[in-house]
Amino acid sequence: MNYLSTNMPAPVPDIDDAPFWEAAARQRLVFQRCGSCKTHRHPPSPMCPICQSTRSEWTEAPPRGQLFSYTVTHVAPHPELRDRTPYVVALVCFPTLDNVRIVTNIVDAAPEDLKIGVEVELAWEPIGAEMWAPRFKIVRGPR
Ligand code: ZN
Repeated sequence: MNYLSTNMPAPVPDIDDAPFWEAAARQRLVFQRCGSCKTHRHPPSPMCPICQSTRSEWTEAPPRGQLFSYTVTHVAPHPELRDRTPYVVALVCFPTLDNVRIVTNIVDAAPEDLKIGVEVELAWEPIGAEMWAPRFKIVRGPR
């Protein structure tokens, strides 16, 4: 069973984040990087917030990141999520990519098992219509 319901409204890619969702459909997590100063950013945007360049490129993220922050949702904001509470909404960061962060879910852990800074790895889940969502699970055992 998926962590969240697959009956949720699907993302609607736009001109800025279409490459992100196209890569996700192949289960590759990519982040936008400035074509001038090379700073990573997320979510995708038309202009670099550091140097205002409109040039950009995409880089693939490593399979592991760090839990930067999280919250536990107890009250479902959508009817399709009522049977999934409590669930974890997390920020995962990638230190090797300018600490770029992504909003995601941690799929395999009870909320009390989560600790800021713990290593997490990608755990892709289908979200319907040939789309995949990058979710994460805690890396357990020896590294
Ligand atoms: Zn820049």
